[in-house]
Amino acid sequence: MALLLKNARCVDPQVELDAICDVLVRDGQIAQIGKPGTVDMAKGVQKDLSGRILIPGMMDMHVHLREPGYEYKEDVASGSRAAAKGGFTAVLCMPNTKPVINDATQVAYVIDKAQLYARTNIYVAGALSHGLKGEALSEMGDMVSSGAIAFTDDGRGVQDSGMMRRAMDYAKQFNVPVLSHCQDEGLVANGVVNEGLVSTRLGLASWPAAGEEIQIARDIALCEITGCALHVQHISTARGVDLVRAAKNAGLPVTCEVTPHHLFLCEDDLDERYDTNLKMNPPLRTRDDMLALQTALTEGIIDCVATDHAPHAAHEKALEFELAPFGTIGLETALGLVYGNLVAGGKMTLASMIARMSVAPRRILGLQAVRLEEGNVADLTIFNPDILWTVRAEDFCSKSKNSAFLGLELKGRATDVYVEGYASLEDGKVVD
Ligand SMILES: [Zn+2]
Repeated sequence: MALLLKNARCVDPQVELDAICDVLVRDGQIAQIGKPGTVDMAKGVQKDLSGRILIPGMMDMHVHLREPGYEYKEDVASGSRAAAKGGFTAVLCMPNTKPVINDATQVAYVIDKAQLYARTNIYVAGALSHGLKGEALSEMGDMVSSGAIAFTDDGRGVQDSGMMRRAMDYAKQFNVPVLSHCQDEGLVANGVVNEGLVSTRLGLASWPAAGEEIQIARDIALCEITGCALHVQHISTARGVDLVRAAKNAGLPVTCEVTPHHLFLCEDDLDERYDTNLKMNPPLRTRDDMLALQTALTEGIIDCVATDHAPHAAHEKALEFELAPFGTIGLETALGLVYGNLVAGGKMTLASMIARMSVAPRRILGLQAVRLEEGNVADLTIFNPDILWTVRAEDFCSKSKNSAFLGLELKGRATDVYVEGYASLEDGKVVD
């Protein structure tokens, strides 16, 4: 059946489109796109989207769906509902599950679950090393055959440089990127917050910026000798950005992502309440780092926004700060944070936001581009740019409610999401 999406402001920098249009969706594709009133539909459903913005479906290339093994935190179905609610049509899930996704069986397991239960496209990243131990290579070839599209030991830095080199040499043969969680365990040890004034004032073990930057520098050097595409995950410091900028200027295949929490929160947000929802890895850094990340994102030195959606159960986050697990959920707040703070705030154009949240993740991962043009797959994100809403735990689709942004008022929210022409979100409600 055909679907006519009418009167939305359709924006896609890939095809230099920014105009009020009608979009006809048929058989999972954009059948026609044109000025209002010019697109004909013999039979089907019409939907008036006046006042809304329609963009190529957003993709989050860093989420933890927790399946298999930690389904009490999240699973493929609930994580995919959260993705749809947040306006995403695709996510890449991380392999630090139980068991670890380090061979073909586990990749196939998640893909099978996604085919049965997911409302969005789910892509799988396999582990770089067996069991994320950083000691022996994972079964990369088998995993690629089963559908893995990237490799990472996310959650841990690979400590042995020779091991990282072998992993990148090997990954390159399959033409897939290595996603690097940069963390030198010798420097970071049991650190839980950024090293500096705040760690001293709060009496918490510190996680120095150098613990991240040393591995970024090392991995860039390994990118140079292996030629393997390197993607730096959740970059959090100004110096880290400088390293990536230099690598890009040198023509190396290096990209990076930033999370909404590193873009809009900093160590100054930590206080004597010891709110464990603000415990992140890498930790919230200085205000200057935060502002440098915003600038680098608008400039495009940072390629994309990725949430590092990290669900944890309430009883886990209720522990003492040192003992609680790292991470915040992020899928359902990312669009409001980036749109409200940066685009509505006048710091970034809407076209740049689309480049960072829809276009770049697919480019980095070697996936087919999603464009607003005839014949393209109808993976669409539609949002209301004017709506003001407050982040509340009871509204999350995610099984876990550990958001660093609870109580905050955001501007902009997804109202409708289509994946291959099928509605995943309609009028703000996930379609079950
Ligand atoms: Zn990580």
